[in-house]
Amino acid sequence: MINPYSKMPVIFIGHGSPMNAIETNEFTLSLVSLAKSIPQPRAIVCISAHWLTEGTWVTHMSNPKTIHDFYGFPKALFDVQYPVPGSPEIAELIMTTVEKPKIHPDDEMWGIDHGTWSVMRHLYPDASIPTIQLSVYLEQPGEYHYRMGKQLQFLRDHGVLIVGSGNIVHNLPRIIWGDNPKPYDWAIEFDTWIKEKLLARDNQAIITQYTNFEAGRLSVPVPDHYFPLLYVLGATDQDDDLSFVYEGIQNGSISMRTLKFG
Ligand code: ZN
Repeated sequence: MINPYSKMPVIFIGHGSPMNAIETNEFTLSLVSLAKSIPQPRAIVCISAHWLTEGTWVTHMSNPKTIHDFYGFPKALFDVQYPVPGSPEIAELIMTTVEKPKIHPDDEMWGIDHGTWSVMRHLYPDASIPTIQLSVYLEQPGEYHYRMGKQLQFLRDHGVLIVGSGNIVHNLPRIIWGDNPKPYDWAIEFDTWIKEKLLARDNQAIITQYTNFEAGRLSVPVPDHYFPLLYVLGATDQDDDLSFVYEGIQNGSISMRTLKFG
C-alpha cells in the first residue's frame, strides 16, 4: 500500500513562561511561522516537561481536558481552554509498537498541560489536530529518553508530528522578572554548547555530558525540561536538516531555543 503521508519533521520547543500562551512576542510569532512551514500533521504527540510520572504513559482519552498546572498567574491564563481531540488510535499504535518499556494508557489522570497547550495555541489555534501527550519518567537516565524517541521515529512516516516541549536552560530559582533582563553567563554558555553539539550531531554528548560542567549543572538543575529534547533527538536521523526556529533567553535563566529537524 502506498503511504499517503509525507515524512514529518521533529520539533523541540522551548516553551518558557506560561504567559507566552496569551502573549504575542517574537517567540510566539516564530511558532506561527513554524506551523505554516511544515505539512499539516494527521496527529501530534507531545512530550511535555510538565507530565512527570513513574513509568511512561500516553494519554488515551478521546477528549483530553485542559490542565492549568501552575500557580500565581493571571485569571486570563486560567481561562484558556484548548479543546483539542485526543487520538486513542495513535496512542494504541504507540503502545503496540513500543514493546520495551511497556507504555501505559492514561484514560483519566492527565490531559493537555500547559507544556503543550501554551505553544500549540500558537501553532494550531483552532485546536483541530488530534493531540496526545507522552509522559516523562524523570528518574530514568538520558539514555532511556533518547531510546524512547528512537522508538517513536516511525510515527514520522505516519503523518504524526513529534514535539518535545521543555527548555534547554531552565533554572526557576534563578529567574529574573522584568523587561528583558540580562541572561546569566552560564545560561548563554550552556545554550551555546547545546547549539554546537546539535550542529555537530553529537547526540551522545547531549545525552550524557550535560552535567559534566558548572554551566550545565546550573542550566539543568532538574532534567524535567531537558529530557524532552532527547526524545526529539532520538526521533531524528542523520539526513534531517536542522534549523533553529527561535533563539533567545527569557527571564535570565530560561532558554527559548526552538528547533526543527527535517
Ligand atoms: Zn515549563
